[in-house]
Amino acid sequence: MDQPCAALEGCHCRVYADRPQYCRQFECALLKGVIAGRNSPTQALRIIRSANRRAEKVRDLLRALGDKHESAALSIRFRKTGKRLQTTEPDAETADTYGQLTLAFHDLNLLLGDAFYP
Ligand code: SF4
Repeated sequence: MDQPCAALEGCHCRVYADRPQYCRQFECALLKGVIAGRNSPTQALRIIRSANRRAEKVRDLLRALGDKHESAALSIRFRKTGKRLQTTEPDAETADTYGQLTLAFHDLNLLLGDAFYP
């Protein structure tokens, strides 16, 4: 399934009532934790907000580096930006921004791996 999904609008599914079977069955680790009582809904919302902030930071840095493919997955955008910069001689400011992007992307992946992936 291509990500991000074309039906995703902000944090909402435009086809929620008619979403595919896979979406109906999928439960991320965070939701499973709430259902099992390991996390409170308040804790889960705090983690979701943190993930959104980290993803927005990655988006901002990608934009600053000239990537405008807003509909593509962040992992693909990050990979393509890295390849593009490898073929050029980036100035110090661009290299610094790319360093910040690398750290921000790592931060996001850590949280996704810890809290969301089953
Ligand atoms: S629930 Fe499914 S169809 Fe809806 S936005 Fe998410 S991935 Fe897309």
